[in-house]
Amino acid sequence: MSTTLGGVLEKKASVAGSVTKIPVTVAYGDGIGPEIMRATLRVLEAAGAALEYDEIEMGEAVYKSGLTAGIPESAWESIDKTRVLLKAPITTPQGGGYKSLNVTLRKTLGLYANVRPAVSYAPYVRTHHPKMDVVIVRENEEDLYAGIEHQQTDEVVQCLKLVSRPGCERVVRYAFEYARQNKRKKVTCMSKDNIMKRTDGLFHSVFDEIGAEYPEIEKDHLIIDIGAARMADTPEMFDVVVTMNLYGDILSDIAAQVAGSVGIAPSANIGNRAAMFEAIHGSAPQIAGQGVANPSGLLLSAVMMLVHVGQNEIAERVHNAWLRTIEEGIHTGDLFDERYSKVKVGTEEFASAVIDRLGQEPLHFKPVRYEEKAPLNTLKTDTVESQSATIAKKTLVGIDVFVHWNGGSVEELATRVKEIGNSNLPMTMITNRGVKVWPHGHAETFCTDHWRCRFHAEDDHEVSSRAVLELLEQMDASGVGFIKTENLYLFDGKPGYSLGQGQ
Ligand code: NAD
Repeated sequence: MSTTLGGVLEKKASVAGSVTKIPVTVAYGDGIGPEIMRATLRVLEAAGAALEYDEIEMGEAVYKSGLTAGIPESAWESIDKTRVLLKAPITTPQGGGYKSLNVTLRKTLGLYANVRPAVSYAPYVRTHHPKMDVVIVRENEEDLYAGIEHQQTDEVVQCLKLVSRPGCERVVRYAFEYARQNKRKKVTCMSKDNIMKRTDGLFHSVFDEIGAEYPEIEKDHLIIDIGAARMADTPEMFDVVVTMNLYGDILSDIAAQVAGSVGIAPSANIGNRAAMFEAIHGSAPQIAGQGVANPSGLLLSAVMMLVHVGQNEIAERVHNAWLRTIEEGIHTGDLFDERYSKVKVGTEEFASAVIDRLGQEPLHFKPVRYEEKAPLNTLKTDTVESQSATIAKKTLVGIDVFVHWNGGSVEELATRVKEIGNSNLPMTMITNRGVKVWPHGHAETFCTDHWRCRFHAEDDHEVSSRAVLELLEQMDASGVGFIKTENLYLFDGKPGYSLGQGQ
């Protein structure tokens, strides 16, 4: 089992003897970032948080200095040491050549679970959903965010959607452990496995497998489109939701907005050896420097961080003072509404109002209690052996050869490529953008210059790598060429590839 953050922190605290301050890396970010970070740290200080800050630079200025990753080596060193990052939002420069720093941080640090609570604060914050209290657990490392994109022809670009069994297992297990720990009753999985039967299908089947280990928790699955519609319309029906990276990104913004404002939604990015805490919103450049931004998203993320490092009492003090401030109608501009609010304040005044209420509990909302909760990253996710530990028998039965072709009709392409196949490895199908266009295509099907020629051994006979290489040599010699290939395998006798649409 790998060392957990809890263990690392305990060790640091004991080495430090009487000093129990926990080192935390802090990034002030861009746009409204520095304003909301200053306000947040002021509240933490006043609440007595035993933290020691190591400030780092990352984001726009670093990008502009020529580092396309947006983060210098010294920042990595700090995060490697503290294993806890409190981060304000960052502006991703427009245009190509820059990778998203957020995605880089999440993936480099192995922060596989993105925990995003969305809670409504009616009747003090405007919402149509007074009873909403949802936690979205978003897979944070895989899916289309692998960021593997290629231009393959003049007309076609590709983004690879990569989904792994261990990746699905640890985020799904995390969601169930989170539900159990927080006495939540239901976990809903959302995917699009009616279309993406292998990638999303894997996520759904892992959910069913792991869910069976949690009999006391209710489980259901929704296709993401109707799931997102219900999140916008009847979010009260959800408790914990676990979903894939892109869906989770969209769904959590919907949930935060429906609950009241993106300005108040926090998040925790959890890995087995590090964690990062940030508001879900961006750097809001339009309002930067005006002192009007709501620091609540970052402040509530800092509350999650305090629980994570075991300072539950301080977390409780800050959270309850924040609830009291909100219910007294002291609101920043994004929340201010004359029907619900009493005083409109700026970032610093809001922080001061929270500080003034430290030690008080909310009168309307239920006070928050954190005593019993264990750090988020000690939830059991890395102690269970992956199901993928069983190695399947893999049999090569064919190959999909993708070609860049604008030399005539599909019949002409088929005539040229058919000759290349042989009786052991015949061409069985051509598709364009996934739709079968040969044999027996439809004249109406719109075709681009990107084709897939499938060569598939009859009766799934095993073919050799040599046979595949010879086939590719012939493709090359024929002038049709190839731009990419995918092997067709059986895994324990079952196809590991999809059919063409219309096949
Ligand atoms: P945004 O979240 O910055 O802003 C969306 C809207 O919400 C704007 O109207 C903004 O004024 C408002 N808003 C956001 N936070 C607020 C707050 N705390 N208080 C009051 N109002 C608030 O989203 P965007 O405009 O799409 O993105 C701006 C920049 O932020 C982009 O460069 C984007 O790449 C970046 N971004 C960063 C992160 C991150 O660092 N985690 C996340 C999302 C976007």
